[in-house]
Parts: sequence; structure tokens; C-alpha cells
Amino acid sequence: PKEKIKVLLLENIHSVAIQNFKDQGFNVESLSSALSEDQLIEKIKDVHVLGLRSKTKVTAKVLAEAKRLMAIGCFCIGTDQVDLPFAESRGVPVFNSPFCNSRSVEKKSAELMIAEIIVLSRKIGDRSREMHNKVWRKESKNCHEIRGKVLGIIGYGHIGSQLSVLAEAMGMNVVYYDTARKLPLGNSKACPDMKSLLEMSNYVTLHVPDTEQTRNMIGKDELAMMRSDAYLLNASRGKVVDIAALADALKGGRLAGAAVDVYPSEPEANCNDWENVLQGCPNTILTPHIGGSTEEAQEAIGSEVSELITCFINTGGSEGSVNFPEISIPVSEETHRILNIHHNKPGVLRDINLILSEFNVSSQILSTRKQIGYIIADVDKEASKEIKRKISALPHSIKTRVLY
Ligand code: NAD
Repeated sequence: PKEKIKVLLLENIHSVAIQNFKDQGFNVESLSSALSEDQLIEKIKDVHVLGLRSKTKVTAKVLAEAKRLMAIGCFCIGTDQVDLPFAESRGVPVFNSPFCNSRSVEKKSAELMIAEIIVLSRKIGDRSREMHNKVWRKESKNCHEIRGKVLGIIGYGHIGSQLSVLAEAMGMNVVYYDTARKLPLGNSKACPDMKSLLEMSNYVTLHVPDTEQTRNMIGKDELAMMRSDAYLLNASRGKVVDIAALADALKGGRLAGAAVDVYPSEPEANCNDWENVLQGCPNTILTPHIGGSTEEAQEAIGSEVSELITCFINTGGSEGSVNFPEISIPVSEETHRILNIHHNKPGVLRDINLILSEFNVSSQILSTRKQIGYIIADVDKEASKEIKRKISALPHSIKTRVLY
């Protein structure tokens, strides 16, 4: 019964997702804030679907208590807030919004970067703050046009490459550095290493993921390689830049300005007492992780992720999952569907097929990942109960469901 499926949505997920789940008949609870680990452990026990954005951490400790959990939806771009391997080992697929990422998030993030490049170049942040404080100070010293300047993009993925196109349209010269081989768009040029990019760019902008290799990839030494009239922009991940070193460089006049949207630690909810080492630095735009925050994007993400999850619950189709074998087959009215998630060990498929071979199977599909295998089999309606019981009893089975 669908009303028994409990959906817990955290962090103010768009109403379109709430409605989608309600239309399915699910029992939905939606909270506006994130939950701490302890609060989540308390609440997760009877939850079947968990939806969150970037603030809630789904640790192994939380997942160990999530006995009923069927799926997790990250209603945002990243999934590093969830312990993905542990979720996989428990047979819990994690979904995010890959298509919205590539169509809409990149565009609006790139738009924000263009805005910030101009705002930094004209010192608009400082002037505006002065005007609000009654100061009229008109000057052109150290204010520049962006046309003809060099934009250095570190990380030429979805956002970086989109930004490249917009920046060239505004007359900038684009260079980029990426660890993967990337096709240069327009007249942009790849740099052989990060050092050469840092040395030649008037603007350096970061669009890399949060990985071991990118932690503090911009620190004291890298800032020293940049021109003293250059600007640094980071709207990627907070730990990519050593912000104490950045604050030193800005205050010491070794950099002309910075725009920062992400921080090594960010508050779980809106607050009025946020403190950061970058506060008070000259020509420094600070924004509260708004790179992906537009109404249009939230709505698109809300509908996409809720649809992926609903599809998984209703048909077993796991497409769009980031930690799970991605399979799907069309549903037939004539049959019942067995879904089995198992440890990826030799011999499991033989055991499952031995059970299935006694019955009539109309379609079957299997895919495996490192830790787990996932099988969908459509079988005669009369046989589904018995097959489920037998497959569930196999020693390597993690979860088995029947859909009808
Ligand atoms: P993406 O995966 O499409 O691109 C990342 C690129 O970085 C890839 O091309 C990859 O090869 C490259 N890369 C990885 N490690 C590197 C390294 N050590 N040096 C150089 N290049 C490296 O990601 P995306 O969608 O373009 O997003 C980029 C970043 O922006 C992500 O960290 C994402 O979380 C963040 N983001 C932030 C906001 C926000 O609200 N501020 C919004 C959207 C995305």
C-alpha cells in the first residue's frame, strides 16, 4: 500500500517534488531545515525515501539505523554528503539530478561568474557598501574592462566550459586547465599545467569537484604565482581554496579581489552570526552558496529527482542513480516483478537462476557494480510469492521486493 511509504524531505525541497510524491499516494513529511546526525538517526528508522540537499550528512551511522530505507534523493548537484559506498552495500540507491545539472545549473552558475567578474573589475561591491554608508567616492583607479582580459578556468566540466562560451562572447580570452582531456570550445586554449594558467590569467575561476586532489589546491604558493592585479573566484567547493591564505593575500595587496560562494564549513541553516576570515577583505564579494540557487533550477531538480525515485519504487528502474547498477525494463500487466539486490559474489547468479528456472520468466535483466548486483525478473503472477521467499533466503541477498 502506497500510503505506507514514508517520504522525509529535508532542507526545503521544492513543492513540485512534494506534490509528485503525494500524487503517488505516499505519506510525505517536508521540513525546511537540515537535520544533525543525531536528529536524523532518530527520524530515519521508519523512513522509506529520504530527500535532502547539500547540508544533511547521511553517514554510515545514520544508514545503519535506516532499516526501511529504499532510496535517497539528493535534490542538488553533489552527492558527497552521502556515504555512497555504504549506501550501496545496504542496497540503497542514491539519485541526484544529472540532467538539470548539465542543462540549467551550469548556465546559471556561469551567469553568476560573469556577473562577479564584472563586479570585481569595477569594485562594485566596495562602492555599493560605501554608498549605503553615505560615502560618495567616484574613482577609476584599478577599475578595468573585461574585454581582452585573460580568464583562466580550472576544471573545464559542465560549468567551466559553459562559462568559457559566455566569457568569449564578451571578448575575453579563455585558457583552461583540466586533469582530463577536454575539447576546447571556441578559441579557448588548454594550459599544460596549473602554474602557467595562474601566471597568465587576469581572472582565475575554479570549477573542480571536491576530491583529495583538489583540497586546498589554491593555497599560499598558488596565490603567489598569480598576478598581483588578478582576481580569484571560487563557486566550486569550499575546501578547494585555503581561505586563510586568500585573506592574507587580499589584505596584503597581493591580489586585486576575490569572489567566494563556498566555504570549508557552512552553517546548516540561515543565521545572523556567521563569521569568516574573509570578512572585511578589500574588493571581496562573499555570497552564501547561491551558485545553484534559482527558482527555475530548484523546480527542475525537484521534479527530476522525485520522478527518478518514483520510477525506482514503482518499477525498480534505477536509471539516474549514482551508486547503483542502472537498469530498467518496461513493466507488463501480465506478470509480477521480482527485484533482488545482492552482494556481488561468484555463484549468486547461479543460485538465483536455479530458483527462477523452475518457473516461467518473461523478462530478466542483471547488472553489477563493485559491491552489489541488481536483478529484475518478470514472472508468472502465481509464482511471485514463492520466488520472493526463496530468493530472499539466499545467503547473499540484501533486499528482495515484489511489484504487482
Ligand atoms: P563537472 O564534473 O562537470 O566538472 C568538473 C571538472 O573538473 C571535470 O572536467 C574534471 O575533469 C575537472 N577536474 C577534476 N579534478 C581536477 C583537478 N585536480 N584539476 C583540474 N581539473 C580537475 O562539474 P560541474 O558541474 O562543472 O561543477 C563544478 C563544481 O561546481 C563542482 O564542485 C560542483 O559541486 C560545484 N557547484 C557549485 C554550485 C554553487 O552553488 N556554488 C553550483 C553548482 C555546482
